[in-house]
Amino acid sequence: MKKIIKNGTIVTAADTYKADILIENEKIALIGQDLTDPSAEVVDAEGNYIFPGGIDPHTHLEMPFGGTVSKDDFETGTIAAAHGGTTTVIDFCLTDKGKPLQNSIDQWHAKSKDKSVIDYSFHLMIGEMNDSVLEQLPSVIEDEGITSFKVFMAYKNVFQADDGTLFRTLEQAKKLGALVMVHAENGDVIEHLVNKALEAGQTDPIYHALTRPPEVEGEATGRAAELTGLADSQLYVVHVTCEEAVEAIAKARKKGYNVTGETCPQYLVLDQSYLEKPNFEGAKYVWSPPLREKHHQEVLWKALKTGDLQTLGSDQCSFDFKGQKDLGKGDFTKIPNGGPIIEDRVSILFSEGVKKGRISLNEFVDITSTKIAKTFGLFPQKGTISVGADADIVIFDPSVERTISVETSHMAADYNPFEGMKVTGQPVSVLSRGDFVIKNKEFVGKLGKGNYLKRSRYGELTSSKEELYQK
Ligand SMILES: [Zn+2]
Repeated sequence: MKKIIKNGTIVTAADTYKADILIENEKIALIGQDLTDPSAEVVDAEGNYIFPGGIDPHTHLEMPFGGTVSKDDFETGTIAAAHGGTTTVIDFCLTDKGKPLQNSIDQWHAKSKDKSVIDYSFHLMIGEMNDSVLEQLPSVIEDEGITSFKVFMAYKNVFQADDGTLFRTLEQAKKLGALVMVHAENGDVIEHLVNKALEAGQTDPIYHALTRPPEVEGEATGRAAELTGLADSQLYVVHVTCEEAVEAIAKARKKGYNVTGETCPQYLVLDQSYLEKPNFEGAKYVWSPPLREKHHQEVLWKALKTGDLQTLGSDQCSFDFKGQKDLGKGDFTKIPNGGPIIEDRVSILFSEGVKKGRISLNEFVDITSTKIAKTFGLFPQKGTISVGADADIVIFDPSVERTISVETSHMAADYNPFEGMKVTGQPVSVLSRGDFVIKNKEFVGKLGKGNYLKRSRYGELTSSKEELYQK
């Protein structure tokens, strides 16, 4: 059915203006003043902003980790995402060394297709680079539309790839038109520091942070950036947390290397002291890389403003405190890494970023949606309010004040890391390809309604590569 969204203020990465939107056949058909169509359902958005649906470039739904599986799957995870104003997620498909890549991709399709309530896509983890993997990559891009490859520089003996694999992946990505994403921490040094801590009987959650200090993130980020320059390739650094890593990215960008970076809400508003909470509650705040000392937060905010960091991902990877996080009691290395973030990503950036004057409204849209669509080959189908784009739309009340809590959250985990945090602004209604997924804050979507998105090659949809890595 056709819809007209009336009286809202449309906000894109470039403009802010009042206009009506006509939606037809899943797309934005017309934008203009005083639109009328007797056959259309009228949605009144008076007093609200109209944003392009948020895109979360970094999720781990139903992901096996350390003998357990992340709590939110493609059902609860995408419902929570929609409540939070996100209409597309890109999840990481993990692979097993020595096994066909397609096996892993098929597994990810199997767990998402009947559940996802919003559109979704996959990145592919590259654990090793050899002739067999090389042969498989063209079909991953061509048939699956997976145009971003993730390389882990940490998690020794689990996900970690060596520098040769990273470099060859960068070379292949350039050749094939893909983007390389790195988890940048020096896994070898971390392993040594972790062993030393355990030998000294240092087993509490805080040692998770102390054994992976900012220097190991800064070093790995700089190494990946230099290898990108050498390969003349393109790099996206996931979950940047600290000044050392921001400096490495800024330095590479100054040299003209095509290096971009993402941060996450937890690093913008939470800090290392949370890991010292009593009664093992510090385990709720175990991410890799870890939360940092507070002074890093302003560096991250500034980088979002200047464009040395471009995007905000959630790194959604939730575990219950009871029954999952507590696997690490008496040994911090056994605490599953990650947290429930997907629902609060957009609201936290709006409240802490826009409302507190750190970024503009248009920058907020760019950071949570537009730049992500451009970077990952989805623009302008996703990431903007323009004629012909998918009608992925968030109707957002910028004035409502509320407190984040596990009680009102739609994520499956038994705690919320932002518990008690006051935020201003909330999505009221959310549309995915023209249909309501959230209507007046209630979920009205359908399981399996989300489409799998094949993405374009890196840079294919934009006029120039410069546009992608410059702000
Ligand atoms: Zn992650």
